Amino acid sequence: MSLRDHIVARVAADGPITLADYMHDCLLHPTFGYYATRDPFGAAGDFVTAPEISQMFGELIGLCLAQCWIEQGRPTAFTLAELGPGRGTLMADILRATASVPGFTDAAHVLMIEASAHLAALQQRTVTHPRITWRSTVDDLPHAPLFLVANEFFDALPAHQFQRDGKRWRERQIGVKNGALSPGLGPALVQRMLDHRLDDTQDGDIVEYTPGLAPIVETITDRIASYGGAALIFDYGDWRSLGDTFQAMQAHAPVDPFAEPGSADLTTHVDFEAVTRAAKCAFTRLTPQGVFLERLGITQRANALAQHLKGDALQAHIDAHRRLTHPDEMGNLFKVLGLFPPNAAPPPGLDI
Ligand code: SAH
Repeated sequence: MSLRDHIVARVAADGPITLADYMHDCLLHPTFGYYATRDPFGAAGDFVTAPEISQMFGELIGLCLAQCWIEQGRPTAFTLAELGPGRGTLMADILRATASVPGFTDAAHVLMIEASAHLAALQQRTVTHPRITWRSTVDDLPHAPLFLVANEFFDALPAHQFQRDGKRWRERQIGVKNGALSPGLGPALVQRMLDHRLDDTQDGDIVEYTPGLAPIVETITDRIASYGGAALIFDYGDWRSLGDTFQAMQAHAPVDPFAEPGSADLTTHVDFEAVTRAAKCAFTRLTPQGVFLERLGITQRANALAQHLKGDALQAHIDAHRRLTHPDEMGNLFKVLGLFPPNAAPPPGLDI
């Protein structure tokens, strides 16, 4: 049995499934899911994320979070959390960089939120700390100050797609035609959660809706508002995304998302406005990743590291700096949003 057989059987029994159900099965099915079965990161995998490009990314994020911790009076016990830690590289870089901030790592309880048992096992080999825990959801997030990072996490949450039809919406669904998975449209229905999108869309426009996003944002921002802390959310996306942003990546190239279920990374762009609508604490201006990293001093850090490098290693380091920051590379496509308590300053590098 393959994931395709499983989905075909599901459609035969229940009718067409939503795009969100399709994404969920493809990414997280416990036997066949993309994240359940492989390590997709890096040159030999399907895509490369910022922490896998250079240690500078995690170092600067670690120091940014530690600065928030200092400014908020160095709480003596707090949660240092990551959503969707992949290989664990980002958290390992955060912990290494912040080891030089007196008291920070000693006061931290590290929490790794990872749905894939396969990737959690990988992270257990990469990240070490005297107090570290793995959970598959944010449900039992401790009632304590929370300093959190998420990189390319929200784009992996299952999304619905709707096409506007008058004042109603037709949902994109996946059915089966001649044995092949085939996308189509469901009946035109009123969708209350899209009422605000009737103001800025026209007939035929596609909007995306990720139901898993708001409950996660509510939980983390509840802790930040109640106990202090900060969150940095990195992803590709925009304010109120519009249009079809669903894509499948395999071996660093876009592929047909319905060709081979479970074998490609599936994402949609993150609607950062939806994050702020769910937030129970203050939020910063949505800022391009390149601008944020420059403000935190990535070029000075790059120059310092370059002193110890030569030849191919130096060139790779220069390329990595460019990739993370340049507007033609990840610098503009990727954005960062900061979440922080109403009575505190925004995280360094971000403003309101
Ligand atoms: N942050 C990492 C990996 C990004 S890929 C990096 O930057 O390299 C997405 C990560 O989120 C993977 O670790 C995946 O297993 C995890 N993930 C996806 N959906 C999830 C969910 N619903 N709950 C928890 N983790 C999830």
